[in-house]
Amino acid sequence: MLISCKECNAQISTKAKTCPSCGADRTPIEWKVFVAGMDIFLGLFFGVLFLMALFYFMRFL
Ligand SMILES: [Zn+2]
Repeated sequence: MLISCKECNAQISTKAKTCPSCGADRTPIEWKVFVAGMDIFLGLFFGVLFLMALFYFMRFL
């Protein structure tokens, strides 16, 4: 089955992991949204963790 590339509209196989014409990857948009969401979640998680650790150690200063 052929689909059109989101980047360059070339006809590419659904089996192709990347577009042979422009090299864009065909990662499903849902997966990209999920990864972006996880990035933000992990960023916030470790940000809060870091701040908590910072406040915890500041009590000893
Ligand atoms: Zn392309």
